[in-house]
Amino acid sequence: MSTDLFADQIPFLKPWVGEEEVEAVREVILSGWLSMGPKTAEFERAVASLVGAQHGVGTNSATTALYLMLRVAGVEPGDEVLCPSFTCMATANAILLAGASPRFVDIDPRTFNMDPESAEAQLTPRTRAIMLVDQIGMPADLDAFITLSRRYDLLLVEDAATALGARYKKRPIGAWGVPACFSFHPRKMITTGEGGMLMTDNEAWAARARIIRSAGASVSDLKRHQAKGVILQEYPEAGTNCRLTDMQAAIGLIQLQRLPDILTQRKHQADYYDHATAEIDEVEPPFVPPYAEPAYSSYCIRLTPSCRVGAHSVITRMAERGVSCRHGIQPLHHEPYFRDSMAGLQLPESEAAARETLFLPIFPGLTRESQEVVVDALRASMLP
Ligand SMILES: *Cc1c(COP(=O)(O)O)cnc(C)c1O
Repeated sequence: MSTDLFADQIPFLKPWVGEEEVEAVREVILSGWLSMGPKTAEFERAVASLVGAQHGVGTNSATTALYLMLRVAGVEPGDEVLCPSFTCMATANAILLAGASPRFVDIDPRTFNMDPESAEAQLTPRTRAIMLVDQIGMPADLDAFITLSRRYDLLLVEDAATALGARYKKRPIGAWGVPACFSFHPRKMITTGEGGMLMTDNEAWAARARIIRSAGASVSDLKRHQAKGVILQEYPEAGTNCRLTDMQAAIGLIQLQRLPDILTQRKHQADYYDHATAEIDEVEPPFVPPYAEPAYSSYCIRLTPSCRVGAHSVITRMAERGVSCRHGIQPLHHEPYFRDSMAGLQLPESEAAARETLFLPIFPGLTRESQEVVVDALRASMLP
């Protein structure tokens, strides 16, 4: 028996999946090839061609895609990687998995993305790379970071987990020659349940990422199968297992067909919220810089000084009215894992943004009527 987990509230998010995904998985299961194989390769080509990157390497998450990217680009233990603190733990986890250390940088308070000047101020002799995050589907200022990375000879990589379909200066994230990783978790733009992909124009990096992804083996299972087992694989280096399965890739291929509609719906929903929240003094809609076409993986509002109620109370009151919201991102330098080693680190813009932001429901299928309920609940929750 299944229960409807979404029945008694306006949920914060709900992935858009249907019979097409069920049928696609059914076909894969009945084909007899369940793990990484032809569907994964097809999905990789489809995402690469959609975003304008040369290669896609499918993985079981964005975390592992980011890890592979750092490793194949030569990030090593002892290196420091600049990244925002105002991001999800997965950004830092990928850096730690590669044996390096994150060095947290403050954000631009308008875009919630890493601020180039703050990044420059955090450079040390150990800085090896910059991990730029396109937070909540909002492209970061790529050109500023491309310039910075060239000036100091740093590797630039992009955590684009939430930004599939977003555009920077009219070109998709992924098309800029900067290696970028997407996530296919249900909270992101398209979903395969769990999954991720590393996009790069560097053929050697892609090839090495494929090897590390699959136990460090020089030959993929599919190649060996096609050769009827006569090829012997070698292990040029130690690897891991972060393969995507063909069942997930089959879902992903259907999801990609939905992406244009997902982007349009989210944009319309964001436009409605922009318009409606413009009339509420206590909140500020998201700022969209001229270079950005955001994907709106989340819709983030900021409480203004005229709001007499804290974000936590607003979220609690919204929940009582049947509207599920979420706190904004909590800065990583305050997490127990980092707290001691980073005692004294102050990132005022990240800390303020964490206190003053919250996410409203936004997802394909969210109706205008539901959005009106959300805005009414928001207005009522602002009363002191
Ligand atoms: C969701 C997210 C990740 C992690 O993605 P997974 O697929 O869950 O590993 C990494 N970075 C950012 C910015 C994210 O939003």
